[in-house]
Amino acid sequence: MARYTGSVCRLCRREGCKLFLKGDRCYGPNCAVGKRPTPPGEHGQARQRKMSEYGMQLREKQKAKRAYGVLETQFHRYFESAAREKGITGENLLVLLERRLDNVVYRAGFGASRAQARQLVRHGHIRVNGKKVNIPSFLVEVNDVITIREKSAEAEHFKALREGTSRIVPKWIALDSENLKATITDKPARDDIDLTIQENLIVELYSR
Ligand code: SF4
Repeated sequence: MARYTGSVCRLCRREGCKLFLKGDRCYGPNCAVGKRPTPPGEHGQARQRKMSEYGMQLREKQKAKRAYGVLETQFHRYFESAAREKGITGENLLVLLERRLDNVVYRAGFGASRAQARQLVRHGHIRVNGKKVNIPSFLVEVNDVITIREKSAEAEHFKALREGTSRIVPKWIALDSENLKATITDKPARDDIDLTIQENLIVELYSR
């Protein structure tokens, strides 16, 4: 399946919740979900009908996939890994997604959105423990240190970040904004994930 290139706000409206795909606008009064809470399209309002159990499970999976910018095959692989781990599969799944390098770059405030963070990783601006990592799906571990390439840190985008970010950085990341350095201090916990995803429905979907 090809990557979606249309309006990202349509995706949030389709899922009926904020997926935080557009940077600062997501945190302000111009968020499309707040302004037009109905599904997109001419008949969006009329299409609001009771959803089947399968429909609800499918929507939760789409929400997670879209929020983290992961395609179907890769998402299914995350699910399989989550199911093999000890603990609650749904939570394991979200924790795996949170540990993606592009997500960490976004959560630390280095990128305005996960999409921008993915670009920063792909373009080689990010270092993990001093080494270049340009794979957005790279999974961070506790004690990993994420920094910005020295030359890139001089760019306006990063200079502005040194003054601090208004983003709430989750407690499993220790951010040193002056040095543009994010240290992973713990594994992400379910409570730290601010997306309204019912992960148990995703597990039910894949268990059909
Ligand atoms: Fe658009 Fe962001 Fe609001 Fe989603 S959360 S509708 S991407 S502004």
